[in-house]
Amino acid sequence: MTKGRYANIIVDISHEKVDKPFQYKIPEKLKEKLEEGMCVQIPFGMGNRLRRGYVVAITDQAQFPDEKQKLIAGIVNDSMPVEADLVRLASWMKETYGSTMIAALKTVLPVKQTIKHKEKRTIVRRFTVEETRSLLGECIRKHQTAKARVLEELCREGMLPYELVTGKLNVSPATLKGLQEKGVIAVETESYYRNPVKVETARESGKTLSAEQAEICSRVLSDFDQKERKTYLIHGITGSGKTEVYLSLIEGMIQRGKQCIMLIPEIALTYQTLLRFYKRFGDRVSVMNSTLSAGEKYDQCERAKKGDIDVIIGPRSALFVPFPNLGMIVIDEEHEPSYKSETMPRYHARETAEYLAAQKHASLVLGSATPSLEAYHRAKEGGYELFTLNRRLTGGALAPVSIIDLREELRSGNRSIFSRKLQELIEDRRQKKEQIMLFLNRRGYAGFVSCRSCGFVMKCPHCDVSLSQHMGGKMVCHYCGYETVQPQNCPSCSSPYILGFKAGTQQIEQQLLKRFPGISVLRMDADTTRTKDSYEKILTAFAQGEADVLVGTQMIVKGHDFPNVTLVGVLAADLSLNDSDYRAGERTFQLLTQAAGRAGRGAKPGEVLIQTYRPEHYSIIRAAAQDYEAFYEEEVLYRELGAYPPAAHMLAVLITTPDEERGEALAGKVAAIARAEAEDGTEAFGEGNKKAAVIGPAKASIGKINDIYRFVIYCKSPDYGKLTAIKDKIECRSAMMELKDENIQFDFDPIDRY
Ligand code: ADP
Ligand code: ZN
Ligand code: ZN
Repeated sequence: MTKGRYANIIVDISHEKVDKPFQYKIPEKLKEKLEEGMCVQIPFGMGNRLRRGYVVAITDQAQFPDEKQKLIAGIVNDSMPVEADLVRLASWMKETYGSTMIAALKTVLPVKQTIKHKEKRTIVRRFTVEETRSLLGECIRKHQTAKARVLEELCREGMLPYELVTGKLNVSPATLKGLQEKGVIAVETESYYRNPVKVETARESGKTLSAEQAEICSRVLSDFDQKERKTYLIHGITGSGKTEVYLSLIEGMIQRGKQCIMLIPEIALTYQTLLRFYKRFGDRVSVMNSTLSAGEKYDQCERAKKGDIDVIIGPRSALFVPFPNLGMIVIDEEHEPSYKSETMPRYHARETAEYLAAQKHASLVLGSATPSLEAYHRAKEGGYELFTLNRRLTGGALAPVSIIDLREELRSGNRSIFSRKLQELIEDRRQKKEQIMLFLNRRGYAGFVSCRSCGFVMKCPHCDVSLSQHMGGKMVCHYCGYETVQPQNCPSCSSPYILGFKAGTQQIEQQLLKRFPGISVLRMDADTTRTKDSYEKILTAFAQGEADVLVGTQMIVKGHDFPNVTLVGVLAADLSLNDSDYRAGERTFQLLTQAAGRAGRGAKPGEVLIQTYRPEHYSIIRAAAQDYEAFYEEEVLYRELGAYPPAAHMLAVLITTPDEERGEALAGKVAAIARAEAEDGTEAFGEGNKKAAVIGPAKASIGKINDIYRFVIYCKSPDYGKLTAIKDKIECRSAMMELKDENIQFDFDPIDRY
């Protein structure tokens, strides 16, 4: 059904300069067939070479005189036909977040790549449970930990997906081969596209839902049946049964012939979680994660389109899996910063899911133990329907949390990084053979090197950041990887007092070893997680009881269950309050709540200690009391006072260039454009009107990364539309400037300060 004579077409080549639609005439024979979003062949350029393009609009408005318009050569049928919806989604993203159309298309469209179809393999236990258990005992005695891991699972499950065992369970193919040769297991192979019945037998039906859980499911599904599409927010502490609700809802959708997208942050895609989905939905579920190649991703999209799967689980990019009959999108841990893209278009999965759900007439379910201010604000205002789950279903009560005032410790003469109470409890847990997690609340990893005499700080020559001290007298830049040896004397005043100010995880490890001789420590930070599987390896080792203590940065607080952990210590809770952007309080509350949730997950009760220099800060007090509501009330007030999201919207314009002077000049021009556009309104910001405030330009807080200078301009307005207007104006005006290597990027409602 063509609504016009011309088609605006994006040429599918990755070059900035062709990122604008070209108009073509629609030939008579295609008039009936052509639709927005279709992939077509068009003659392009001087030589009229045939190229591929996507139809982004069909119109009657001619851009040139008729006789100058070229004709579309034909519709491309051989490739995966591009969903018109996805192209519309891309154009919405371009508009809403600012990017080129090509970048937006590349974000949403699966890249066609033919790969050899992988076979789906399943591990089947051949031994009886008793035989397996006795072999397991033997492996534990011999410290064959990988073998023990898979055997332990096989005592519970008769079959396991091969990828899950080699991937998340971190068992090598060689180990599996050994077990296969001994006849303990068999590895069965099925072609990916055929429907393997094997995994089917491992399926498990859901638990009987609690009254609260059942209420959520019946409300959401009955809304759906009555054609009501809403966004729901489930606020429920960890262990309150949110995942069980998702599973039930998805089951309900499948019964209705619908498909579901389940977003989980990559870091929380653990073995246990994935296994729950596999057991419930067998091979109707598929996982998309960052380790998949482009070809494998394309494959997943094909399977989804053909109706071979009903559920896709993955991080934010799983949103773009083209289901023909999407019924529901679920976003677990909706507050996670990883739902925001770090490259243009800098989209947020929550907002994008809202658009997509509306477009596809699907429901949207959000869940979190610590909802983002944005989501909770919407729920409070009635935009989302709010459900609360506040009971842990496995019995284990929330661990009691105490706040330790580090200033008090110092006053009583304790200069160690461990408070007296923490030392006492560490000793106690060692005696009881229970485990401990120590959490350093910071994003940087190691300490910096400075001169005690003149205050000079060693900086990276390519980036505007201080170098981090590492073992063996090395200093490393965590932004660009630059490495150098620590000097003997201060480069500025030549004093010999140039020393590392260590506050990193390495130092905590050293202090632990010194204070508690014989204690075994696993450490997780940027250094120990360089290789691909190291993250999973460390966690598995800790879960297996291979160490008394796990020390780490923010990466250890997420998503893992360690039943034997009965003590969690946060070493300096306020470190994340010093981040100096408006989300610091929220981030601190979330991290402390998550960290506290790590203790007492098993049968034994746990305890949490939060050490801090700012025991009076509301983020710390509310996190210790595990009182989200009270935290929200205080935080939202602060956002309203500062006109920060969610009370208003914010646009960060980032200008990057290798030439500092040109960068500064461009930043000045861009700020002027923004100001002019901000003024352009009848009312004034602050008195309920539509104008925007423009702040800057300024050097970004990290003014240089990898020899590229960075300048930033912030615009604030209660009206998102005003900010997109500013963005459009900047885009339009900068397109007319003669820019060399200057780059302008947009970030709406930024997660981090620039
Ligand atoms: P969340 O996603 O909120 O952390 P889960 O859904 O993972 O919570 O549930 C926590 C634990 O409680 C899991 O071990 C789960 O199997 C169990 N559980 C959840 N719902 C029920 C239920 N209705 N009956 C019994 N156990 C349940
Ligand atoms: Zn000096
Ligand atoms: Zn650097």
